Amino acid sequence: MQLLESTGTPYCVVGETSNLLFDSRGLRGVIVRIAARMSGISFDGRDVVVKAGTSVPELARAAGAKGLSGIEHTVGIPGTLGGLVIMNGGSQRKGIGSSVAWVRYVDRVGTLIELSREDCEFSYRSSALQRLGGVVTEVGLRLDRGNTDEIEAEMDEIVASRQARFPEDAPNCGSTFLSNPAMYSSVGPPGKAIDDAGLRGTQIGGAQISPKHSNFINNVGGATSDDVLALVGLVRGAVLERTGFRMDAEARYVSPDGKVTAAHTVSDDRAASPGTSMTPIHPK
Ligand SMILES: Cc1cc2nc3c(=O)[nH]c(=O)nc-3n(C[C@H](O)[C@H](O)[C@H](O)COP(=O)(O)OP(=O)(O)OC[C@H]3O[C@@H](n4cnc5c(N)ncnc54)[C@H](O)[C@@H]3O)c2cc1C
Repeated sequence: MQLLESTGTPYCVVGETSNLLFDSRGLRGVIVRIAARMSGISFDGRDVVVKAGTSVPELARAAGAKGLSGIEHTVGIPGTLGGLVIMNGGSQRKGIGSSVAWVRYVDRVGTLIELSREDCEFSYRSSALQRLGGVVTEVGLRLDRGNTDEIEAEMDEIVASRQARFPEDAPNCGSTFLSNPAMYSSVGPPGKAIDDAGLRGTQIGGAQISPKHSNFINNVGGATSDDVLALVGLVRGAVLERTGFRMDAEARYVSPDGKVTAAHTVSDDRAASPGTSMTPIHPK
């Protein structure tokens, strides 16, 4: 980090890239990847110290085997703990933040810092870490005592339910749009809003709104980042017009100089100054 900072080199920190849409023009900078080579879990009663590159499903299973409860909801999320903490990811209306005790990270100028849960300002799919930048290296979790059989049964149920609902046949960035609580209570979740707007299965270039779950955008063959962003813009505009709610993207876009931003901010900018126009193909 000291070298990157002192030389002004563009960089991007990633885990498994499961939440990221890279620009098809590439990335002219350094990728700092914190994944399997920086993984490891140590248990001390209810306290668990986890290296940031640890796979989330493996962590959930390992905690369950020790009779520790609290992160069952993360068992089907295909990423690293570092990425999950940055995103305050989770499922079943939960976020990993509520199980975090502290986070160790290296800031932009190379200083090792420890943050408490409060410092991380976790909120729905968001954390202060997104603004701070830097690299999460290790996370302390505090879990509850539970019964291994019950924890494992719950995780098996979660995995089975996800397999039935989510598309697994084509690459995607997970849920494209965040669920907005006000919209949820009057319109429903993003997938329903997209269905109601008649957009299920709509395709631009190689990017398609999944016919299985409308909040996923699949690469069905040769999709460019522009195809995906155009689809994000189309959906956002159509849902806004129909419901009055602006859906923000959970998926994050990585620009050619390594800047990571919510995908809708880029699709909005493109819509304001359109360079290319692409015609959507609506399903019959
Ligand atoms: C099929 C599918 C299903 C999904 N389901 C869910 C779900 O149910 N719930 C959910 O919350 N998410 C879900 N996701 C999204 C994604 O898996 C999560 O956000 C995951 O936690 C991201 O982890 P990652 O290691 O892949 O991070 P990446 O995608 O690589 O990065 C995500 C963000 O974290 C940053 N980052 C990653 N690692 C570090 C680090 N060590 N230090 C600093 N910054 C870092 C990146 O810069 C980026 O901003 C799903 C994705 C897919 C493809």
